[in-house]
Amino acid sequence: MSTPYYRAVGDEVSIFELAHARRLPLMVKGPTGCGKSRFVEAMAAKLGRPLVTVACHEETNATDLLGRYLIEGGNTVWRDGPVTRAVREGAILYLDEIAEAREDVVVVLHPLADHRRELYLDRQDELVSAGPEFMLVVSFNPGYRKGLRELKPSTRQRFLGLTFDYPEAAVEIEVVAHESGLDPKAAKRLVTFGRKVRALEELGLAETVSTRLLIGAASLIVAGLPPRRACVVGVVEPLTDDPELIEALTDLAALAF
Ligand code: ADP
Repeated sequence: MSTPYYRAVGDEVSIFELAHARRLPLMVKGPTGCGKSRFVEAMAAKLGRPLVTVACHEETNATDLLGRYLIEGGNTVWRDGPVTRAVREGAILYLDEIAEAREDVVVVLHPLADHRRELYLDRQDELVSAGPEFMLVVSFNPGYRKGLRELKPSTRQRFLGLTFDYPEAAVEIEVVAHESGLDPKAAKRLVTFGRKVRALEELGLAETVSTRLLIGAASLIVAGLPPRRACVVGVVEPLTDDPELIEALTDLAALAF
């Protein structure tokens, strides 16, 4: 499998390699769509390990992750969940948006995230130990719905931490152009537009323009949609439903293109 494209922005590649070599779990923090998942995908490929990704949400419970007994052809058989599979395979296990998961999930992960590096399957009465290649990576978005979902200090302090953010303009232009195939000049305009919207904190948007949204809009332009329309469909509408805001941001897009 070829390594996914990832444009490094700091020392995150060497930190990840260090964490893997030292068998330490890693927490990647940052807003949505800024490259966290792509980074983890690229690192798994670079280290030659399989990647198991779990998108956590409020319904995710320990059984979903660890495994369960199923009835198959009249027999009861145990089926590993993704976390158990990842531990057995020595994979990179990526729990996306860990703070969304229920408390029982987090408790199950504790022995995996400290020096024990093991998982206890109580339904099986089995202790699964992680091999040296296994690594636990979690992501969370600190600004998102502030105060509602937080990681407890006893959980956080098991992880190394790396902060991600939308990259500086030149890098973001490079990423948008690479991912969409848009020419760098137009990518520059689009990124400039995106950064202007980000700077308008007074708009009170719940989430701002992500690199992912800019890549989406860029792909629309490449497909032949007029750039202003691509900005509205690809960036403005996904961000807000407020008619006045839509109008103001549409004007901003018209200035950019
Ligand atoms: P997150 O996991 O932070 O929500 P993603 O990793 O899914 O975000 O990033 C969204 C998209 O942005 C990716 O699919 C990728 O196309 C692009 N991207 C963002 N930052 C980078 C980067 N530094 N290098 C390569 N691609 C990037």
